Amino acid sequence: MLYKTLAETYEKLSSTTKRLEKIDILAEFLEKVSEKDGELLYLLQGEIYPEYDERKIGISNQLAIKALSKATGTNSKKIIQEWKKIGDLGEVARKLTKTKSQTTLQTHILTTQKVIENLRKLPDLEGKGTVDKKISLITELLTSASSIESIYLMRTLIGDLRIGVQESTIKYAIIKAFFPNEENADEIVQRAIDKSNDITEIFQLARKKKLKELENISLEVGKPIKAMLAQKAASIEQAFEALGKPMAVEYKYDGFRLLIHKNKDKIILFTRRLENVTKQFPEVVDYIKEYIGGESFILDSEAVGFDRKTKQYTGFQAISQRIRRKYDIEKVQDKLPVEVNIFDILYYNGKSQLDKPFEERTQLVRKIITNHPYKIIASKMIITSDEKEVNKFYKEALANNQEGVMLKNLKAEYKPGRRVGNMLKLKPEQRDFDLVITGAEWGSGKRSGWLSSFNLSCKSGKEFLEIGKVGTGISEKETEDNKITFQTLTELLKPHIIAEKGKEVTIKPKVIVSVTYQEIQKSPNYKSGVALRFPRFVALREDKPLAEITTLEDIEAELGSQRKESWKYG
Ligand code: AMP
Repeated sequence: MLYKTLAETYEKLSSTTKRLEKIDILAEFLEKVSEKDGELLYLLQGEIYPEYDERKIGISNQLAIKALSKATGTNSKKIIQEWKKIGDLGEVARKLTKTKSQTTLQTHILTTQKVIENLRKLPDLEGKGTVDKKISLITELLTSASSIESIYLMRTLIGDLRIGVQESTIKYAIIKAFFPNEENADEIVQRAIDKSNDITEIFQLARKKKLKELENISLEVGKPIKAMLAQKAASIEQAFEALGKPMAVEYKYDGFRLLIHKNKDKIILFTRRLENVTKQFPEVVDYIKEYIGGESFILDSEAVGFDRKTKQYTGFQAISQRIRRKYDIEKVQDKLPVEVNIFDILYYNGKSQLDKPFEERTQLVRKIITNHPYKIIASKMIITSDEKEVNKFYKEALANNQEGVMLKNLKAEYKPGRRVGNMLKLKPEQRDFDLVITGAEWGSGKRSGWLSSFNLSCKSGKEFLEIGKVGTGISEKETEDNKITFQTLTELLKPHIIAEKGKEVTIKPKVIVSVTYQEIQKSPNYKSGVALRFPRFVALREDKPLAEITTLEDIEAELGSQRKESWKYG
């Protein structure tokens, strides 16, 4: 397909904010996409492979600017000036390409396949001359691009497509295009997406208009699957109403989620962000080999830190660095040991377990595992119909430094990636929020060269709304206790800067951090209407996907309970 056709579709999609209109535009477009062009569905999400694949485009603004400069013959300084003025490199590319096309003739016609082909070469490049090779691959595309194509190429490169298309928009467009009259298509396509995690695979099956084939998609060991998410329980009583009696009650471990895949000798560990972290946890691989039976399986678990001497559990913060640490693994492994708590099973010896009720799945977990405390165990659990027992277990979990308890419906299926009401969390008033950094300020004095004050945003529907700025809890120098430094944060954030104005930068929502705060206040200064007083940085949450950060609703609920408390005691 011509890239122009895709670019025109992007343009139409960004011209409306209405979801239904977007679905119509996309459905009409998908009907025109042939089997051989199926991979362009990745491009619709700004990707070149399925979401879980670690090969990302990964081009910094600086590199994209250099390529644009080469392609249009405009010097980089001028491009940066324009960018600061317009705030969107895509629009800058459009403007420059327009001027260019008056002087030179386009020599090549771009196809979506050519775009994918060149973009896919980028993450594979390594070693000497990488930067130049990258620039020339991008320049080749930009030189052939018309002005409308150049906007979306540029935005794709820097990972800021701005067309407002989410996975669910694509899902409904697929249904509209290929299964307009099938009543249960929504459920079937959603399940297929949950299991496959690959939008092109779904599209290829849907094109054939065979719902049955989508229904038959199966889990694959080694291919990451999204974890099931929890909702909040208002009280134990409400949990019993929602989940039925009896229900399962487990510790809510304060660690990070690990999805464990095993096929014969091959073991892979994924975070809930679908990132492969096997190399970081060699000891966990050994525990699985030694203490869990079965040819092949996919397990859901939480890894939690503990102190070797006191055997006390430590919180997430203490072990967060293990997720990113790629050197001296043995040292950190010794200093920051983890215990893996297995709480679910999704696949076992060739068969999906997703449709089995939780009580069967948890029995299977307990059958195949030999518990080895402080290495790997089945999660602590009781099954009860008694509120008092739940309360006692909840207190015990808190006394053991855990976050609270998870309450589970014994009859429920496992729904990957979805926040369904089958699993509820019960925890005390929230002390931390997981927020995303959406802006920052360049520092001065001792902090010059680093980003120093970070704008924090929560999620509200599709938007990210600011609720405060954080600068404390981050250190200027590397410290013994491995506190995060301004330098590390700057390095993480820099590739995601999408606009700069004076000292202030706008940053694509990518980097998630945990913060504590003293108080939540109503605030007219922020569009969110709330502000955190004295937020303090706690940890990087590299394991958490954007979809799971704290929502404005969560924060408003905390504000509400804060008020009640002050009314009670004030
Ligand atoms: P939250 O992150 O507060 O929405 O809580 C859900 C998270 O709790 C899950 O994603 C898991 O990482 C974690 N968790 C800890 N213990 C359990 C458990 N026993 N069952 C399910 N999830 C658990």
